[in-house]
Amino acid sequence: MNPKWNGQFSCFDLVARTGDRIGQPVHTVVSLGDVGIGADDFVVMAGPCAVESERQLLSTAEAVAEAGARILRGGAYKPRSSPYSFQGLGVEGLKILRKAREQTGLAIITEVMSEEDVEVIAEYADIMQVGTRSMENYALLEVLGSCGRPVLLKRGMTSTLEEFLCAAQILAMAGNPQIILCERGIRTFETATRNTLDIAAVPVLKTVSHLPVIVDPSHAAGVRSIVPALARAAVAVGADGLLIEVHPCPEKALSDGNQSLNFTEFRDLMDDLQPYLAIPQEKREFRPRLVVGGAD
Ligand code: PEP
Ligand code: MN
Repeated sequence: MNPKWNGQFSCFDLVARTGDRIGQPVHTVVSLGDVGIGADDFVVMAGPCAVESERQLLSTAEAVAEAGARILRGGAYKPRSSPYSFQGLGVEGLKILRKAREQTGLAIITEVMSEEDVEVIAEYADIMQVGTRSMENYALLEVLGSCGRPVLLKRGMTSTLEEFLCAAQILAMAGNPQIILCERGIRTFETATRNTLDIAAVPVLKTVSHLPVIVDPSHAAGVRSIVPALARAAVAVGADGLLIEVHPCPEKALSDGNQSLNFTEFRDLMDDLQPYLAIPQEKREFRPRLVVGGAD
């Protein structure tokens, strides 16, 4: 850890690990029914990049639940780099997500891009996802402060960890302490993968913050063949969970098909994780204390 970081986060008092939090648990656990994100369980959130149809979502929900996912993902409002790409089904997509929750019991996570949509999305979603392009949308973070739902905050693709924690602090100051941090890869000079998974971000964030940290290997890799290896790395480095894109037929997906797993691939990924998940969380997890001093 860069010794220059010592003390740097004391101003982020709502999200930083600044000694023992008097009268509060040492780590934040985001609870949804019997699922605790940041507790001993490793929580997998999975589903399509975008909700495309009832059939597509319901079949995916059943497949991921059967393979061990606890939370269903699916975008109804999509931030697309191209204006010509599929933009999402909006409220119709939210209704399909609700139906999937009723049928499978899975909690729902979906993205919110604009402060104007917070109220309607909070009616349907169990977790509000803030995407990489919105991490610095402070008007959105402000409104999410009082939305009454936990927020999964993705790291901006060009953000430092300090800027990431700053966005989390803004959200907490706006009144919402239920925050899950998500490392989803950052922009670097590398082109072999869509983004570069900053795996070191997991132990660093766990050292300086009490919030749960999860990894999105799908958007980091950009290609499905690399997703299982990155998922394994996330478990080994002490992440609290994963966010993974799964589609019944990735070749036909309206968004992010290249990085989406089909049902068999997702089941295999979950099976492959089991030996790593058998290592108790307190052994996998690194929440080292910041140490003062030492050379760069
Ligand atoms: C997504 O989860 O589908 C998404 C758009 O992610 P990101 O904001 O990380 O690009
Ligand atoms: Mn996506």
